[in-house]
Amino acid sequence: MFQKSTGNDTIRTLLLACDVRTQYYQSSRFVRKLLYIHQDQLNLNCFPEELSSVDAVIMAESVADASILPFHKKKLVLEWSARRHFASELEKDGYDVILSQTEKTSAGFLREYLESHRDASIVIMEPAEWTPRMEMMKLADAFGERIRIIPNTFFLADAGSWTDTVRNGYRMEFFYREIRRQTGYLMDDGKPEGGEWNYDDRNRKSLPDDENVPESPSFTPDKITQEVMADVNRLFPDHFGSTEGFAYAVTRKDALQVFRNFLDVRLENFGPYQDAMADGEPFLFHSLISPYLNIGLLTAREVCEAAIEAYDASKKQKTDSGKKGGGSDGNDEGDDSKTLPLNSVEGFLRQIIGWREYIRIYYEAMMPDVREANHFSYGEELPDLYWSADTDMNCLSQATQSVLDHGYAHHIQRLMILSNFSNLTGSDPRRLLDWFWFAFVDAHEWVVLPNVLGMSTFADGGVLASKPYVAGGNYINKMSNHCKSCRYNVKARTGESACPFNYLYWNFVDREHDKLKQNPRIGFMIRTWDKKGEEEKQNIREQSEVFLAELKRYNS
Ligand code: FAD
Ligand code: SF4
Repeated sequence: MFQKSTGNDTIRTLLLACDVRTQYYQSSRFVRKLLYIHQDQLNLNCFPEELSSVDAVIMAESVADASILPFHKKKLVLEWSARRHFASELEKDGYDVILSQTEKTSAGFLREYLESHRDASIVIMEPAEWTPRMEMMKLADAFGERIRIIPNTFFLADAGSWTDTVRNGYRMEFFYREIRRQTGYLMDDGKPEGGEWNYDDRNRKSLPDDENVPESPSFTPDKITQEVMADVNRLFPDHFGSTEGFAYAVTRKDALQVFRNFLDVRLENFGPYQDAMADGEPFLFHSLISPYLNIGLLTAREVCEAAIEAYDASKKQKTDSGKKGGGSDGNDEGDDSKTLPLNSVEGFLRQIIGWREYIRIYYEAMMPDVREANHFSYGEELPDLYWSADTDMNCLSQATQSVLDHGYAHHIQRLMILSNFSNLTGSDPRRLLDWFWFAFVDAHEWVVLPNVLGMSTFADGGVLASKPYVAGGNYINKMSNHCKSCRYNVKARTGESACPFNYLYWNFVDREHDKLKQNPRIGFMIRTWDKKGEEEKQNIREQSEVFLAELKRYNS
């Protein structure tokens, strides 16, 4: 379906069907007004209506953008295939589409297009990521009125009105409440549904052995995706991961199906098991929609509203069937339907209108200086196991294998296993950031940077999080079954079989004693360390030193 044509050496053009290709070559005569759609904006519903009057949609498949880091091959397949499908759908809907593969960056491609098409003008929606945004701004400077930049409409909250507040340490929870008030989501007469803003205390269960985890939705690669897989293997052979087993949705229709599956079979248990981890179960009851939200196939507003609708419908069904069952108080008699639990629905909503929106505003507020943040001044390489999954620490092996296989690990694995271990081993947070950015299919700088430098490594010194997220094996054991089949003993603090998280955790408290003691939320940790006997402290220090030296030796 895609044909390659070379107008010059630097641009290879992939075009949808011959008729469009013809239009491309005639374009300098009649395509005057174009809409550029960036890689993470694959949803025309988010563009103002007046833009339906443009002559054509222009998009770039940029090899340069895909090479800034060794991005997971599945991430590239997802993004390139989604874009080619999107272009194909636009074309079917009657739009003229220019989709070009280029060695240049997206902005470089647009520059070249404008230089060779003197009548053309381009409307660009602000990219969410900093670097392409700055490049588009430069284009606007260079081409004046021929470039019009319009605000990004893919988020719910107006970032501009929040950046100063967030920069000054305003916490997510208060932001979230305000967005609840503004949107009216899960509000009941000005009060939060059920009386509380947050039901997190019900959302910390570990997974019982007999709980059935539903299969995650998967999609067989069609012809377009197969072509992209071949292109990715050819163009990026040394990138992280593999294209094999690619099963992500690449169209809005299929992304909606993933979300529908979440509403139907996962949302009920999403809340309670949100923080749980289990051997061989990377997805559990998570929604798995972040890759699609982050490239525009789904929108934050529609998923929140659909979740609330499902919640309201389940309440209504319960009431109706209660009435039919004949119970005079409208109770459960003859009714086996279940109301979706409020803690699950509220928990999901908080992730999207709370965390996701807040994270994006933090990015706007803190860029670009935050890129250099390194509160603890850590400089170690990230351990090799992040590339190979080769470790006998079972929790780390499970999480890194899932990243290699799927470009995915869920939130608690990212926070309490992958980032935790990086912090405890003194790895440079910026190296961890790069790894998260290229290894995960849902990573884009605006979302991965705040999560890594703000939330999970405390590199920003506490603007986003009120304390560093570090923990010993105890936490991992409480929330997972990983320790049962691990060669290490999670109960032992020191000694040959002791869980490394245990002594590394206390070693971290010792190492950062002075910085941590100013933090009221971890005073308890400091006091516990201070009370330990000198011999135990020495054992912890020595064993950590040996472990870290071994890790370094293995890395080099
Ligand atoms: P669910 O658990 O089902 O949550 C629902 C949705 O809430 C997610 O799809 C996501 O859109 C949103 N969400 C939840 N938490 C966050 C958060 N902290 N920040 C932003 N959105 C959130 N998320 C990304 O989308 N891209 C990233 O690159 C990314 N990197 C992360 C790195 C670290 C170190 C940590 C701790 C978290 C990161 N997150 C990132 C947030 C979160 O882990 C993922 O959004 C989530 O695991 C995606 O899986 P899911 O769709 O099944 O999410
Ligand atoms: Fe991880 Fe320690 Fe448990 Fe092993 S014992 S799975 S290393 S927490």
